[in-house]
Amino acid sequence: MRVEVLGCSGGIGRIGGQVLQTTSLRVDHDILIDAGTGVAGLTLAEMAAIDHVFITHSHVDHIAALPLMIDSVAEMRQAPMTIYAEAATLEILREHVFNWAIWPDFSEITVCKSMAIRFQPVAVGAPLYLGGRTITPLPAVHAVPAVGYCLDSGAGSLAFTGDTTANDALWPMLEHVDNLRHLIIETAFPDSEQALALRSKHLYPSLLAKELARFAGPADLAVHISHIKPGQAERIMREIAGHGTRFSPQMLQDGQIFEL
Ligand SMILES: [Zn+2]
Ligand SMILES: [Zn+2]
Repeated sequence: MRVEVLGCSGGIGRIGGQVLQTTSLRVDHDILIDAGTGVAGLTLAEMAAIDHVFITHSHVDHIAALPLMIDSVAEMRQAPMTIYAEAATLEILREHVFNWAIWPDFSEITVCKSMAIRFQPVAVGAPLYLGGRTITPLPAVHAVPAVGYCLDSGAGSLAFTGDTTANDALWPMLEHVDNLRHLIIETAFPDSEQALALRSKHLYPSLLAKELARFAGPADLAVHISHIKPGQAERIMREIAGHGTRFSPQMLQDGQIFEL
């Protein structure tokens, strides 16, 4: 299983030579986890090859490219693209995005003899099996209904928290993942913006350190920090290092690839 980071920033913009993109991970050639602006870097053929899109939650930084991608490649595909999310998130997407006002409801549009998309609800802890890969929704605590996802190749697992603040239910669940190699966890704000982080239900460095201290996972676990506010990367990573954890969190990078 190959996991490629298409986007992992909390926002967009160019900083120096780097163009920041919002959250999306590509798993092998056919699965996306979230569909933020990072998807726009794929070719049409690469987008048309996506059969499964797992959405963590309905915030626009995680779905910005979804409506546009579907429209761009619907006629290149032979079967519906499946959009997976919690039922509450699917309801929000149908009511507020695929509502014919913001964008057409592609689950009602027939292209090449099938609907362009179909929606499939997922539930925390209930795994889905896709060609030897197991994808299990993880609990998340955020301002809207949200999940993370654990991706298991059989040889190793990568857990992605999605957007979350302190998350009591996550750690016991991850302690049961016996082949956990990588954890991608958000830290959206610096410590000085703690009030805003708590209000918007995100993590900040001192809360991240408290969360990681609750986790009895393997000491060689690779921890990667995502969803950093544009322009705050150095500060947030310095604060994380200053709090000290059993792990040595590194900043996740666009284009980073994990082989599991
Ligand atoms: Zn969010
Ligand atoms: Zn977000």
